[in-house]
Amino acid sequence: MKALVKAEAKPGIWLQDVPLPVLGINDVLIKIKRTAICGTDIHIYNWDSWAQKTIPVPMVVGHEFVGEIVEVGSNVIDFKPGQIVSGEGHVVCGRCRNCMAGRRHLCAHTSGVGVNRTGSFAEYLVLPMSNVWEHRPGIDLDVAAIFDPFGNAVHTALQFDLLGEDVLITGAGPIGAMAAAVCKHAGARHVVITDVNPWRLELAKKLGADRTVDVRSERLEDVKKELHMSEGFDVGLEMSGNAAAFNEMISHMCHGGKIALLGIVGEETQIDWNTVIFNMLTIKGVYGREMYETWYKMSVFIESGLNIAPVITHHYHYTDFQAGFDAMLSGQSGKVILNWED
Ligand code: NAD
Ligand code: ZN
Repeated sequence: MKALVKAEAKPGIWLQDVPLPVLGINDVLIKIKRTAICGTDIHIYNWDSWAQKTIPVPMVVGHEFVGEIVEVGSNVIDFKPGQIVSGEGHVVCGRCRNCMAGRRHLCAHTSGVGVNRTGSFAEYLVLPMSNVWEHRPGIDLDVAAIFDPFGNAVHTALQFDLLGEDVLITGAGPIGAMAAAVCKHAGARHVVITDVNPWRLELAKKLGADRTVDVRSERLEDVKKELHMSEGFDVGLEMSGNAAAFNEMISHMCHGGKIALLGIVGEETQIDWNTVIFNMLTIKGVYGREMYETWYKMSVFIESGLNIAPVITHHYHYTDFQAGFDAMLSGQSGKVILNWED
């Protein structure tokens, strides 16, 4: 089968013929219909220091996908050929204390599809049945292909109560923009989103952000006055991975404000701890998605009218993968879809 392979320990990705994956008794075989390119795939493409110490070479990469089940292992009774599915990319151990208690998203022994094990940028993917999510009938295939990053947005946004609250999102990348849509859907009052990239701020507006702020030319202090906010933001969603943005967020929260931290900040990041203490802030780290409460919420949010489709800005056939990666690298893209059907 055809697959996009990290074939060499240097920048780039290569379209190659690889053997069909072997189906185990607890697995399903999925014929891939659409995939999406994640920021993680860009780290792997660029072969940065994280990728160099994490990614085995050669390996098929990719983890955002939708496809159709074409075969199931002999132990599998809950899934059958013909079902349209995506998959949770974090394969957990199932045996640690957190897994045994049903807190699988907290497993310390996670293996990542397309990161530590064979990925989904391929005509076929084998996935353990425990990681398969069946979509509701009628789901748009492009939307289904981005359930993984949509899940990051949903899981982060739902960390704290949103109804009637003022929310600050730092970083209008695809995840920040989708989080803005989720916060509005969940009843937030003002959703303010920051970035340094005007193209991305426009995208966030399309997804329903009430106020976009280019922090190079506008001050959050002024935006708070404009919106008649008495003190500061109730909830913060850090989705830029930028240290300055994180510190800006800390300084604009209300007393008792709550921050969910998804963006991956540099190891040397300094934050103003005294503001955290004296303003009694809560900061919670967020990784991945909750298995499978986040997936349930995603499906029902879509069913109840949440529209995240505008975050999808580019479509290519998988043979045009280079154009897809270039679109991601340009900074002028939301989600980029690769089509694996003929
Ligand atoms: P992205 O890189 O596409 O978006 C980040 C955005 O932040 C960009 O638009 C960038 O212009 C903006 N930005 C840069 N400096 C800024 C500043 N000073 N103020 C405001 N915005 C600024 O990333 P994404 O795919 O949307 O993901 C968001 C973040 O979440 C990334 O840091 C990513 O690594 C991280 N992530 C974490 C998890 C997890 O499980 N914890 C999962 C997926 C992604
Ligand atoms: Zn575990």
